[in-house]
Amino acid sequence: MYTEFQKHLEAELQAIREAGLYKNERVIVTPQSSGIKVAAGEGEKEVINFCANNYLGLADNAELIEAAKERMDSRGYGMASVRFICGTQDTHKQLEKAISDFFGTEDTILYAACFDANGGLFEPLLTDEDAIISDALNHASIIDGVRLCKAVRYRYKNGDVADLEEQLKKAQAQRFRIIATDGVFSMDGNVCPLDKIYELAKKYNALVMVDESHSAGVVGKTGHGVTELYNLRGKIEIITGTLGKAFGGSVGGFTTGRKEIIDMLRQRSRPYLFSNSIPPMIAAAGLKTLELLTRDNTLQDRLHENTKYFISRMQAAGFDIKPTQSAICAVMLYDARLSQEFAAALQEEGIYVTGFYYPVVPQGQARIRVQVSAAHTREQLDKGVNAFIKVGKQLGVLK
Ligand SMILES: *Cc1c(COP(=O)(O)O)cnc(C)c1O
Repeated sequence: MYTEFQKHLEAELQAIREAGLYKNERVIVTPQSSGIKVAAGEGEKEVINFCANNYLGLADNAELIEAAKERMDSRGYGMASVRFICGTQDTHKQLEKAISDFFGTEDTILYAACFDANGGLFEPLLTDEDAIISDALNHASIIDGVRLCKAVRYRYKNGDVADLEEQLKKAQAQRFRIIATDGVFSMDGNVCPLDKIYELAKKYNALVMVDESHSAGVVGKTGHGVTELYNLRGKIEIITGTLGKAFGGSVGGFTTGRKEIIDMLRQRSRPYLFSNSIPPMIAAAGLKTLELLTRDNTLQDRLHENTKYFISRMQAAGFDIKPTQSAICAVMLYDARLSQEFAAALQEEGIYVTGFYYPVVPQGQARIRVQVSAAHTREQLDKGVNAFIKVGKQLGVLK
């Protein structure tokens, strides 16, 4: 039985390799941090990490680890249940409340991942009488969530409010409309034009959904995300996000927003109803994360300073950096092979980054995406920039 299928898979995998699209996973043998050790050959190599979503440096934070340990001791390892049967502890409710307070929303529902939050968002809320108007560069999980829903689909060009308006005009044919957008687009680091989206939503009678996965903890003066940046706290009907990036770097997702929407998701959202609760220790560490972020602005300030410093040095060196309002810095190289050579040479220099090329980014838009963290020291940032300059000269990117 398997023989034919095996041959088929082998051929497909070979085609992926030949296209240069095969993904190899590099192995880290330390906690996730700004400085890590990776397995290299027979040994290990120390590198400075510029490709984690560890924006606030919390992935190995002592207070989070302590909170997780305490809760594992007091409440056990796992819930062995979905939420509505017997999978909800007080910690889960407290975390939901803390997320609502953080975003200024009415209620919150937790998921095992933001992928699930987005995957289970639209189908319970909308029918084939309704419409979703989605940014063309939205995350895969939003795209999948939209696919699982029967609503009529409209797509607008990335961040293009004129195109959005055109689609909203067409979508007047439907009963209800939701505009769906990422807060920060992960390949360029640009933020969505939420102020204009909000204005159009009012004009064309639509709801707004924003995925704050790359913006929560990062964007806005105190890291409260795109709604802070645009002064729209409490105005957006639906926000989704992850505990896997700035908020601690573990796992877990959430949808937060209007109370009736959250209530309906608890009744009908399939990844919530048919998938396990997050473990108590994760909920406790999530609570601790939000406590740290609201206690003072140290981490957010450091992230903003680090990002500004890194980008200004890279620009001064002559690199072509995509305009960004997040901690994502896309160093444009425009050539797929060059992006791979560049990343490999940087790793030799002890700098850990990933080169991205088509189809992850548009054809001819190959780049190295750098993600700055509050955990980076000035010395690590300098080493990063200096290595970029050295390799840039070697490979003829810089003169
Ligand atoms: C990372 C990411 C997700 C997925 O988050 P997980 O919690 O890891 O599933 C969803 N949406 C966006 C925009 C993301 O960047």
